[in-house]
Amino acid sequence: MTVRKSRTIRLGKTLIGGGRPPVLQTMITTPLDRFDDALAEAHRAYEMGCRVVRTAVRNEQDAGLLERFVGEFDGDLIADIHFDYRLALAAIAAGVAGIRFNPGNIGGKERVALLVEEAKKREDLAVRIGVNAGSLEKDLLEEYGAPTAKALIESTRRWVNFLEHELDYRNFKISVKSHSVAETIAACRAVASFSDAPLHVGITEAGGGVGGRIKSAVGIGILVQEGLVDTFRVSLTAPIEDEIVTGMHILKACGFLAGGGEIVSCPTCGRTHGALFTYYEKLERFFDEARWWLRPPLTVALMGCEVNGPGEAKGADLGLALGRGSALYFEKGNLVEKFTDQQVAFRHFLMSIRKRWGLEEN
Ligand code: SF4
Repeated sequence: MTVRKSRTIRLGKTLIGGGRPPVLQTMITTPLDRFDDALAEAHRAYEMGCRVVRTAVRNEQDAGLLERFVGEFDGDLIADIHFDYRLALAAIAAGVAGIRFNPGNIGGKERVALLVEEAKKREDLAVRIGVNAGSLEKDLLEEYGAPTAKALIESTRRWVNFLEHELDYRNFKISVKSHSVAETIAACRAVASFSDAPLHVGITEAGGGVGGRIKSAVGIGILVQEGLVDTFRVSLTAPIEDEIVTGMHILKACGFLAGGGEIVSCPTCGRTHGALFTYYEKLERFFDEARWWLRPPLTVALMGCEVNGPGEAKGADLGLALGRGSALYFEKGNLVEKFTDQQVAFRHFLMSIRKRWGLEEN
C-alpha cells in the first residue's frame, strides 16, 4: 500500500502535512458572544493537548470578538464561516490562524478569489475548503441528480484547480465530509489522487456514545494508515473533552503517541476472581483524569486471575491480577507483592501508577 505524503502548510504556529503526525483539532460549542465561557472552553482543549481549536463565526458581532480571542488564546484558532465572505475577511484581519469555508456557498469564484488574495498576505494563515452536500454547485447537482460522492469529488477537483492554478495559492487543506465511513474513505482516496494538499478528516455527524466513537475510529484509523489524515476532528454529539480523549485514543492506537499510558486488561472468563469490571472502570476514570496521553509511557495490566494474568501481561510495566480473595501485584511479569485484600491491592496499584507519573496523592 502506498502511504501518501501531502505538502506542508502552515496554520499559525502549527505545521501540517509533509509526513507529520496527524494534528488533532476540536470545535468549541460555546458561542463567541459568551466570550469568557468560549475562551475557557478553548483553554480546556489546549490544556488537554488539543492546540488547534475552531469556532463558529456567525455574524459581525462574533467577528468583532476574534481579535481579542486570538490575543488571549495560546493555541491556533480557526474561524468557521458560512455564506458571508465579509466575516472571513474580518477573521483574516483579526489574526486567526485559519479560516474554514465552503467555496460553494460563500458567493462564487469572485468572492473566493477575494478571500484568497487576503489570505496570501499572511503566510501563517491556512485556508480549509470544505465540500459537502449543502454547498454543491447547481450544474453538478443537475448532472449527477443528487449530491453523490462522485459529484462531491468533482466539485472538490474544480475548487482545487481554481485555487492552485488560477489563483496560485497552495496554503490550504481540503475536507470532504460524509457521515458514512465508506464514503468518507472513498472521497479522501479520490481527492488524494489529484491533489497533494493536506486533508482534514472526520466522520461528520457520527453521533455520540460508543457508536460515534467507533465510526470515527474506524474511518480515521483506516485513512491514517494510508497517510490520508493531516488534521482530524472526532465529531461527536458530546462535550469537546470526549472528542479529545477519543482523538488521543486514535493517535495512540495508530502509533503516533510516543508517550502516554496504556491499559491492558483481560475480557474476564470463568476463572475470574472478583469484580474486574468495576476495577477497570475505576482505572479508566483515573487514567482519563490523569490525562494519560500527556504522561510518560507506561503500560499497566489489570487481569482477572493469577493463573494466566501475570504471564499474559508480562509486557506490562506493572499490573494487578486478581486471585481467590487475594491479588498479586507484579512488575514486568514478576511478582512483587501478594495482597489478601483486593481493594487494598487496587489502591496500591493506583498509587504505583501515580508514583511512576509523578502525581500527587489526592
Ligand atoms: S487472564 Fe485469567 S480471568 Fe482473564 S481471561 Fe485470561 S484466564 Fe480468564
